[in-house]
Amino acid sequence: MRIRELVRSFEPYRVVEEDYPIRLDKNESPYDLPGWVKEEIFEELRELSFNRYPHITSMPAREAVASFYGLSPENVAVGNGGDELIGYLVRLFEGDYVVTTPPTFGMYSFYAKLEKVPVVEVPLREDFTIDGDAIAEKAGNARVVFIASPNNPTGNSQPEEEIVRVLDTGKPVVLDEAYAEFAGRSLWRLIEEYPNLIVLRTFSKAFSLAGVRAGYFLANEEVVDALYRIKSPFSVGIMTVAAVKVVLRHYDLVERRVAKIVEERERIRRAFREFTYPSDANFLLMRLDAYEFLLEKGIVVRKLSGRLDGHIRVTVGRKWENRKLVEALREYLEVEGCG
Ligand code: PMP
Repeated sequence: MRIRELVRSFEPYRVVEEDYPIRLDKNESPYDLPGWVKEEIFEELRELSFNRYPHITSMPAREAVASFYGLSPENVAVGNGGDELIGYLVRLFEGDYVVTTPPTFGMYSFYAKLEKVPVVEVPLREDFTIDGDAIAEKAGNARVVFIASPNNPTGNSQPEEEIVRVLDTGKPVVLDEAYAEFAGRSLWRLIEEYPNLIVLRTFSKAFSLAGVRAGYFLANEEVVDALYRIKSPFSVGIMTVAAVKVVLRHYDLVERRVAKIVEERERIRRAFREFTYPSDANFLLMRLDAYEFLLEKGIVVRKLSGRLDGHIRVTVGRKWENRKLVEALREYLEVEGCG
């Protein structure tokens, strides 16, 4: 038996966070679902047959998402997290390569590499905005262009006119809006105008369902139809469907939590304005090389590299966690002589 060289070239997953009390490294919601919402999910589940496979094209979940947006289920695809859908979006379209805009979310190039599709990188500008003209220039024979807005790990939203510039090429564009609830804006309505636009969203962040695994995209019927020809048939289980249906009924709760997270985000940013970039997401990019220092204090954040060497990405946590973070970073600055 020999494992393929391609597979061996991937790093094994590392688990670092479990030993640390404060985990601000994965952009999860710091708030679990309240017990009464979980009870509603359990009620849904009680009615379902666990011995049967879930619906083959996830119709119950797609209907729930579609009615939330006032769309047809033909415009909605649901996956086992947004990650699964990214894996399929790399495989759906004709073309020789995918376009990404680093520094950005790593899963676009992860799946491209796995699929042996070259990645053409069009770096973000100095201010982390995308360069629509430069992307359009490179889009020639692209399968798909990935744009995250708000972008992970930089936190900024991308200007609508730059996104439209790319959409006007007619090439498939995945607009990854995993953090859109925290930005308070979304361009999903453009799917009616642009059949080449795929808006990717997730239940992992604002909706507190990272552990359940649910993501979706909104797009033209043809793209959704194509996805369901190749998607692993039963990857969205009945527990995921039940959770999605219930959380969509409680969007008011999601909105209140988003408001709290945004308030906390701005509080942290004010404390370290000099070292922190503006953010439209549930995390902050900081120009502080404080990863190891924070780890020693029991706080896990994301250490960045490459163009963002010496930076950390910090997820906004609960109030007490953020207080500990601010205290630790103040101490770091004192030790470093910057305070
Ligand atoms: N897109 C971006 C930009 C993300 O940061 C994430 C999660 N880290 C995802 C998509 C996918 O999230 P999930 O698979 O949990 O839905």
